[in-house]
Amino acid sequence: MPNHTLPSPVWLFDLDNTLHDASHAIFPAISANMNTYIARVLGDGSTPATQAQVDAARLGYWRRYGATLLGMIRHHGVSAADFLHVTHDLGALDKLMRAEKGLGTLLRRLPGRKILLTNAPTRYSTDVMRHLGLSRHFAHHVAIEHMHVHRRLRPKPSSLMLRRLLRKHGVAARRCILVEDTLANLKSASRLGLRTVWVTQYLRMSDPIGKAPLPRTLKRPRYVDVKVKSVRQLPARLHRLR
Ligand SMILES: [Mg+2]
Repeated sequence: MPNHTLPSPVWLFDLDNTLHDASHAIFPAISANMNTYIARVLGDGSTPATQAQVDAARLGYWRRYGATLLGMIRHHGVSAADFLHVTHDLGALDKLMRAEKGLGTLLRRLPGRKILLTNAPTRYSTDVMRHLGLSRHFAHHVAIEHMHVHRRLRPKPSSLMLRRLLRKHGVAARRCILVEDTLANLKSASRLGLRTVWVTQYLRMSDPIGKAPLPRTLKRPRYVDVKVKSVRQLPARLHRLR
């Protein structure tokens, strides 16, 4: 007999390295754009900053704020829109994309509403979703431009932003499942009471500048309810998430 007391879940899906392999070519391209951009901002107006200075800034802001962009805004007066526009300007995406087959079928089979929740800008994420052919499976598309709280940019892993998102969509935290590759985002979601799924197959490095390799075995932290290589394993693990 079906259990009518369990409401269907609300899925929050990350995009990069969750629904496609951004590590393959897209992240390296974005990273190169970021290096150029940050070197110019940190430079003296004529000479760009050195790679070592850029790396130190990227790592430092990423550790302190969870995102390089937030440090660039706070300490260098960078415009978020300009930074995102320039760094995500990648030309034709089809040459850079790599993804699994069968994701449309998977998303159709998974019970419950799906929301795309990405720290990437709308123009880029819309483009990627078009290439993946998955847009129709998502009720909402939440990109970084929609992550302002009290007029400040609060991307993942902001719990302020997540709480507001849940309130806006009228959904209790325990009904939500966040599907992600980034542990920091899963950790903050878990603290709010969301279920968490860690997708590991596209992870390459454990820092944003590609200097720190991943540990050989990826141990599931306690705040991760389910660890999968691919989102295609979700139907088989659904019972662990209810
Ligand atoms: Mg991701």
